[in-house]
Amino acid sequence: MSSSLATMAYIGATILFILSLGGLSNPETARRGNLFGMVGMAIAVLATVLGPRVTAAGVPWIVGALVVGGAIGVIAAKKVQMTQMPELVALMHSLVGLAACLVGFASYVDTSTVFATGAEKAIHEVEIYVGILIGAVTFSGSIVAFGKLSGKIGGKPLLLPGRHLLNLVGLLVVVYFGWAFVQAHDIPAGMLPLLVMTVIALLFGIHMVMAIGGADMPVVVSMLNSYSGWAAAATGFMLSNDLLIVVGALVGSSGAILSYIMCRAMNRNFISVIAGGFGGGAPAPAAAGGAAQPQGEVSPILAAETAELLRESKSVIIVPGYGMAVAQAQHTVYEITKLLREKGVNVRFGIHPVAGRMPGHMNVLLAEAKVPYDIVLEMDEINEDFPGTDVTMVIGANDIVNPAAQDDPTSPIAGMPVLEVWKAKTSIVMKRSMASGYAGVDNPLFYKENNRMLFGDAKKMLDEVLMALKA
Ligand code: NDP
Repeated sequence: MSSSLATMAYIGATILFILSLGGLSNPETARRGNLFGMVGMAIAVLATVLGPRVTAAGVPWIVGALVVGGAIGVIAAKKVQMTQMPELVALMHSLVGLAACLVGFASYVDTSTVFATGAEKAIHEVEIYVGILIGAVTFSGSIVAFGKLSGKIGGKPLLLPGRHLLNLVGLLVVVYFGWAFVQAHDIPAGMLPLLVMTVIALLFGIHMVMAIGGADMPVVVSMLNSYSGWAAAATGFMLSNDLLIVVGALVGSSGAILSYIMCRAMNRNFISVIAGGFGGGAPAPAAAGGAAQPQGEVSPILAAETAELLRESKSVIIVPGYGMAVAQAQHTVYEITKLLREKGVNVRFGIHPVAGRMPGHMNVLLAEAKVPYDIVLEMDEINEDFPGTDVTMVIGANDIVNPAAQDDPTSPIAGMPVLEVWKAKTSIVMKRSMASGYAGVDNPLFYKENNRMLFGDAKKMLDEVLMALKA
């Protein structure tokens, strides 16, 4: 393939990626957006492999890597549960970071590139240094995020004494060694500063994510998404690949916008989240599942009574959370919704921006169950409607409906906007026990006079509600 044809293909792929991102911004167009992304990626890979920069001797290596990587990808996609998706995404971000590091070191030791001027060489070295820096932070940060999301590492923030000073000293050392790296005359001399910086960057990535409390993890997830984009862009600079630069910048900037949206959803200041220490009282996510201290009496309700309440309602709001994903109850939720709507009940869904364990988690599940988009509303669109609602059904959600966020300034989730489900005539919370949610805080909603607890696995309980409704 000639270089002008490869450039044309790259431009086509770039346009498809932009259309893909545009499509992903709305559930109705997300499927099409995904398709654009897949076609764009296929064109990009083909144009690169068949392009002028790959020699015939390199093709078998690339095909071998594609087969191995593709097989791992297919197996992972088939095996991974929907609830493990956030962890998988974190792992994938770590791979982008690792790739940026490896490409950086390979570019440095590769002597085949001849630079016309000293300035060109210096620019290339800065690209390598910055690329490895971003890659290493993304790699180690994503690994820790994977550990935190899967409950393998505790969610409690690690607050080292003088942590800001430590970070500052690390930054100064990185800047100093960056200068030493560009000044180095040969590869062995440059290798030491590069290795020292890589170690510091790896430690910084670990420290940065370890310092973030359980309740603020959504921001970390989106932030690492953004970092992985910048790492890819840095790789693009090192390889002089325009497509990688553009795509990396697209991912980096959309991840940054997502981080901003997540911060706004949680009423957090981005810098404070990154500096760490929020979500202070949060225990490990694994522990967030341990019993919280009881704060009063709760009123349990049976599935048949729930069905009765729903049948008598004029308006119902369903608030899904992480537990709906665990129970895979979305299909039964939709069956119930259909039945109630046929009976003339106005059923709508209220979606909190950080519900579940990844951005858009609930929207994906509801779309999978074919819930019509027009009854799925964002928190801001529906929060004022709770006072006029007969029943709110909270399905496996906890932190996102916790009134302590509004009433208790000492709470780790204080200030986070929540769905005000308790303002409905009756709220019904479906969960298996009195355990706390991801942020590890007790929920005063459970003890409110107009709240009922439907204890049990969400899928099992909803099946019983559906049966009672059909009876
Ligand atoms: P929570 O983690 O607050 O609560 C989920 C609840 O679901 C638990 O209390 C659990 O209670 C219940 N549950 C679990 N399994 C089942 C089941 N099989 N059947 C019924 N109930 C079940 O989830 P929310 O969605 O309310 O809030 C999301 C939290 O996750 C927030 O703190 C957010 O900050 C955090 N987070 C969000 C991310 C994102 O990007 N969206 C990323 C990382 C973290 P029980 O064990 O008693 O059943």
